Amino acid sequence: MKVPFVDLKAQYLSLKDEFDAAVAEVMSETAFIGGRYAAGFETSFAEYLGVNHCVACANGTDAIEIALKAIGVEPGDEVLLPANTFIATAEAVSNIGAKPVFVDIEPTFYNIDTAKIEEKITPKTKAIIAVHLYGLPAEMDKIISISRKHDLKVLEDSAQAHGATYKGQKIGSFGDAATFSFYPSKNLGAFGDAGAIVTTSSETAARARLIANHGQAAKNRHTVEGRNSRMDGIQAAVLSVKLPHLESWLEARRANAKIYDELLRDTDLRLPVEPSHSRHTYHLYVVQVPDRDVVQAKLGEAGIETGTHYPIALPFMEAYSHLGHEPTDFPVAYSQMGKILSLPMYAELTAEQIEHVCSTLKKAVSLSAAANE
Ligand SMILES: *Cc1c(COP(=O)(O)O)cnc(C)c1O
Repeated sequence: MKVPFVDLKAQYLSLKDEFDAAVAEVMSETAFIGGRYAAGFETSFAEYLGVNHCVACANGTDAIEIALKAIGVEPGDEVLLPANTFIATAEAVSNIGAKPVFVDIEPTFYNIDTAKIEEKITPKTKAIIAVHLYGLPAEMDKIISISRKHDLKVLEDSAQAHGATYKGQKIGSFGDAATFSFYPSKNLGAFGDAGAIVTTSSETAARARLIANHGQAAKNRHTVEGRNSRMDGIQAAVLSVKLPHLESWLEARRANAKIYDELLRDTDLRLPVEPSHSRHTYHLYVVQVPDRDVVQAKLGEAGIETGTHYPIALPFMEAYSHLGHEPTDFPVAYSQMGKILSLPMYAELTAEQIEHVCSTLKKAVSLSAAANE
């Protein structure tokens, strides 16, 4: 039995007629960029999250750059972010001329270790980026209280966590702004690149909108230099078809995670943990296994696709070698990177597929353990 890591086709087929009609409508109206489809999605996504404003843009990386500028991060400022995240989080900081400063992650939940944030704060620190990695909210209460104490801005990189909740409130509504990616394989994915910035501040929203559209305040009146980062009408129409289904897809992911939990409970593998005050949305179901590379290759031979998020934590990545970091600077991020394994996870995954993944995984783990004896 083949088990792909994600299956975008399954979701497309489940709503094919609606997608096809929505895309045809955009084309017949030649509403290619921005326009009523983008505006419609902005309104419904803001409503879904419980925030006042949503600014649609071209992708989740642009969204971070635009949001950082909109909340006042300037060249030379330092921005704190977790050592384990996708490079886009750090790249966005560098691309606006600010400096990414990594903070180690917490060993159980994989998010930024809030106990290690304050030691990284300097007079140049301007903001903290909370990444809700794998679909699990970062510890927002602690992050917000540290930010108030030190007068810092907070940005939530929510690219992996659409619809996740922290203490009953949807993520994206805690920080000064939050960003989303709608890259096709995210929990809410478009048919190409797309992203959004959300905020409760009308001032921040207005600034983000200005930056994302060439600083154009009115036709041919550019009040600042901005950039081109707008959402396509086709992507907005696709996302509007999908949004009403997001909750049921998230529930399906959670149900799949429960099946994994139960089938893997009797092993020594470290499983994802959901704190009682959070709703994990399982963008990724990440376990820790000894001999990860061997186990991963065995699963691959059996037709089971897995991933690693991420095999090299950012401080140790070539792109950041100029920072001169050592493993002891980020012991948790360093020690987990050889063990983490992301198992197949998507709403349409079947119980039968999960059972097959788990039994193959258990066999691979015991084989590698026997080989090491
Ligand atoms: C996917 C992702 C991004 C970037 O989003 P794009 O739409 O691909 O630019 C940023 N941060 C995190 C944590 C992501 O997973």
